[in-house]
Amino acid sequence: MTLDRRSFIKLIGSASGAAAIAGAPMIAAAAEIMPKKGKRVVVVGGGYGGTIAAKYIRMFDKSIEVVLVERNDHFVSCPFSNLYIGGILKDLKPLTIKYDKLVKNHGIKLLQAEVTAIDPAAKKVVTSKGELSYDRLVMSPGIDFRLEEMKGYDAAAMELMPHAWKAGPQTVLLRKQLEAMKDGGTVVMSVPLAPYRCPPGPYERASMIAFYLKQHKPKSKLIMLDANPDVTSKGGLFKKGWKDNYADIFEYRGAKKVTEVDAKNRAVMIEGLEEVKGDVVNVIPPQRAGQIAVAAGLVGDDKNWCPVNATTFESTKHKDIHVIGDASVAGAMPKSGYSANSEAKVCAMNVVALMNDRETTELSGINTCYSYITDKEAVSVAAVYAVKEGKIVAVPNSGGVSPADFSAAKLEAIYAESWLKNILTEMST
Ligand SMILES: Cc1cc2nc3c(=O)[nH]c(=O)nc-3n(C[C@H](O)[C@H](O)[C@H](O)COP(=O)(O)OP(=O)(O)OC[C@H]3O[C@@H](n4cnc5c(N)ncnc54)[C@H](O)[C@@H]3O)c2cc1C
Repeated sequence: MTLDRRSFIKLIGSASGAAAIAGAPMIAAAAEIMPKKGKRVVVVGGGYGGTIAAKYIRMFDKSIEVVLVERNDHFVSCPFSNLYIGGILKDLKPLTIKYDKLVKNHGIKLLQAEVTAIDPAAKKVVTSKGELSYDRLVMSPGIDFRLEEMKGYDAAAMELMPHAWKAGPQTVLLRKQLEAMKDGGTVVMSVPLAPYRCPPGPYERASMIAFYLKQHKPKSKLIMLDANPDVTSKGGLFKKGWKDNYADIFEYRGAKKVTEVDAKNRAVMIEGLEEVKGDVVNVIPPQRAGQIAVAAGLVGDDKNWCPVNATTFESTKHKDIHVIGDASVAGAMPKSGYSANSEAKVCAMNVVALMNDRETTELSGINTCYSYITDKEAVSVAAVYAVKEGKIVAVPNSGGVSPADFSAAKLEAIYAESWLKNILTEMST
C-alpha cells in the first residue's frame, strides 16, 4: 500500500484507520520545526497531566528543552464543570486556564498544534505545523470515545445530545438545553461501563442536574441509565444524598446499557430491548485513550488503554514514550485529574533520571475525588498508592470515604473548592 502524507493523516484521524494501523505507525516526511539542539522532551496535551509533566521536568533539570504541544490556546477543567451544569457557577471562567505564565515562568516552549502522528522509531512527533524530534515523549492526551459501541452517536448527534465529558462548548450546550427545557420535562443520562474518565463524575453530574431541576423546574424528572450494575464510586454516599435531597426528582436504574441513540427523537435504546425518551439527553459514551495514543500503537491488548511501567510510566509498547493521565493503565489509580497530577510528577522525575543516567524512584501517589451533592455539600473518596510487584496498588487502610452521616459534607465542599483553586494554579503558573 502506498500512502501520501495527507491520506495518512486523514487515515489516522479516523477510528477505523487508527485500528488498522495500530502498532505499526509510519510517517511521511514533513518539515522539522524547532530543530532540536540539545536534550529535548516533547509533551503532548496541555491538560491535567501534560502541564504538570512539562513544568516539573523543567523544574528538575533546566538543561532539558521541553516542548508542550496542545491543540487549544486554553484549557477548560472538567472538575467542577458539573457545578456549572447545575447552575451553581455562572460561567466557565473559574475553570479556564491559559498557558502564558506556565511558559514564561519555566521556559517551556508551547506549540499550539494538533498532533497527527507519532513515529516511535524515528522519535518524531508530526503536528499540523510540522515535525518535532524528541529524546523522550510524554503523552497525556486524555480520552476519546468508542463511538462504534454507540450506534447513531456521531458528531451531529452530539450537538443534539451532548456528552459534556470534555469541558467546553459541550458543557455550555448541556446547560443551555436544561435552561430551555419546560418545567415538567424529563432529563435522561447514560453512563458507560467502567473504566471511564472520573469514576464518580456521572453521579456528581446526576446530583447537579437534580439540584438544578429542584431549584428551577421542580415538576421535572431525571432518569439515569447506568450500564454498570450499581453506582461504581461512593455508592452509599450518593444514594443517601439522592434520597435526602432528590427522591421525588431522580430515578437511578442500574444494569441499563445504552447501545444506540436516535438523536432527532431524543431517544436512547438499551441493548435493542427498551427505548427511553427525554427532553434533554446527556449521553456519556464508552471511552478509550485519546485517539493519538491509539494511532501511535500505544494501547494494549484491550485496544483501549495504554499499558505502562508502574515506576517510570514508560510505555510497554514503545521505548522512550511515557503515558500518563486518563490514557494510561495506572493500576489501582482512578482516571482523575488528581491522579494525572501525581502521575505527572513521578513521570517527570523519572524522565529526568533516565536522561541523566540516574536511578529511578517509585511512585507514592495520592488521589482524592470530591463530588458535590448539593451546592453546599460534597463527599469524597481518597487513597494512597504505591508500587508492589510491578503494579500500582492502593496502600491498605490508607484512605476511605466521607462519614456516612454527611457530618463533614459542608466542610468537604470548602476543601473541594480550595483543591480546585490549588491544582489549576499549579497547572498554570
Ligand atoms: C464531569 C467531570 C468531572 C470531573 N471531576 C473531577 C474531579 O472532581 N476531580 C478529579 O481529580 N478529576 C475529575 N475529572 C477527571 C479529569 O478531568 C481527568 O481525569 C483529567 O482531565 C485527565 O487528565 P489528562 O491529562 O489525562 O487529560 P486532559 O486533562 O483531558 O488533557 C488532555 C489534553 O490533550 C489535548 N490533546 C489531546 N489530543 C491531542 C492532539 N492530538 N494534539 C494536541 N493536543 C491534544 C487536549 O486538547 C487536552 O487539553 C472529571 C471529569 C469529568 C468529565
